[in-house]
Amino acid sequence: MLPRKPNHELILYLVLPCYNEEETLTYSAEALTSKLTCLIRDEKLISEKSRILFVDDGSKDRTWDMIVQLSNAYPRQICGIHLAHNRGHQNALLAGLMYAKDRCDITISMDADLQQDINAIEDFLSAYRDGCEIVYGVRNSRDTDSFFKKATASAYYSMLKWLGTSAERNAADYRLMSAVSLQALSEYSEVNLFLRGLIPNIGFHSGTVHFNVKMREHGTSKYTLGKMLKLAMDGITSFSIRPIRLILGVGALIFLVSIIMILIFIIDYFCGNTVPGYATLSCSIWFLGGVQLLSIGIIGEYVGRNYEETKKRPRYFIADTVGGEDDDCN
Ligand code: UDP
Ligand code: MG
Repeated sequence: MLPRKPNHELILYLVLPCYNEEETLTYSAEALTSKLTCLIRDEKLISEKSRILFVDDGSKDRTWDMIVQLSNAYPRQICGIHLAHNRGHQNALLAGLMYAKDRCDITISMDADLQQDINAIEDFLSAYRDGCEIVYGVRNSRDTDSFFKKATASAYYSMLKWLGTSAERNAADYRLMSAVSLQALSEYSEVNLFLRGLIPNIGFHSGTVHFNVKMREHGTSKYTLGKMLKLAMDGITSFSIRPIRLILGVGALIFLVSIIMILIFIIDYFCGNTVPGYATLSCSIWFLGGVQLLSIGIIGEYVGRNYEETKKRPRYFIADTVGGEDDDCN
């Protein structure tokens, strides 16, 4: 186990990506500042240099203005960074973690709507004290999710497991990471990010903490179906080439079947059986056409991602910061 600083020197950054969260920010900031004060003053678990870091993911509403106001109102507790564009939850989270990396000893990431129970923070901290460099938050139940989300999430995680990804089932992005594991994370340069799959790849001693999820109290979900599908595809294509292998297997099987069919047709021909053949022919054309298109699609998905990765475009730009300098905040 790497040496741990005494509690009063341990700097924690709570990292919260925010996209169009004007309805929820005031409530979240209020709950988080009193939690932070409690952790610093009453429980004496962390240093007073600990901060709440809001990452504005290029919001179109007043989110950034509100972060600036909140930072001015709580200069010793709240700071923020403003991304130049909406880069999606995973990139915004990464931006926050990388910004916090050199300023703190540990980060805990969570959603800005505080659906995840902030009272689990003490459990995260004690797992860190016990030697974990990464602590995964695992939700107790999915009762707050719609039937559709529950069913798709369960099917998706089963598929990820089958594909060989080590993403923890029911683990959202509520997670503690130490500076050491953040340094390791900074060395991955992929553009299509799926942190839930990537972080278990880093290794290090890790643990889990169970927490409850509640319904979103203010504002609406910012994860549109399109964003969710993009995340799901990133999860699959970033960690496994098994779908491509599967295509190879299906292709080989179909090839074998077609050889057998040709043999049967030749035998039939010499035996004098004339087969009408219309149904067989049209079925084969449709079937093979479908399989081919699907296969090209899957391969295309990988080729596309390869294209994006080779360009190595920057994942985000920080347009503005507020309250980030430790000295300013003190
Ligand atoms: N989010 C983000 N960028 C986006 C979409 C979402 O930073 O493009 C943030 C959002 O502000 C929230 C977190 O990601 O802090 C999770 O989103 P949300 O709560 O809307 O998702 P849900 O809980 O409905 O899955
Ligand atoms: Mg939410």
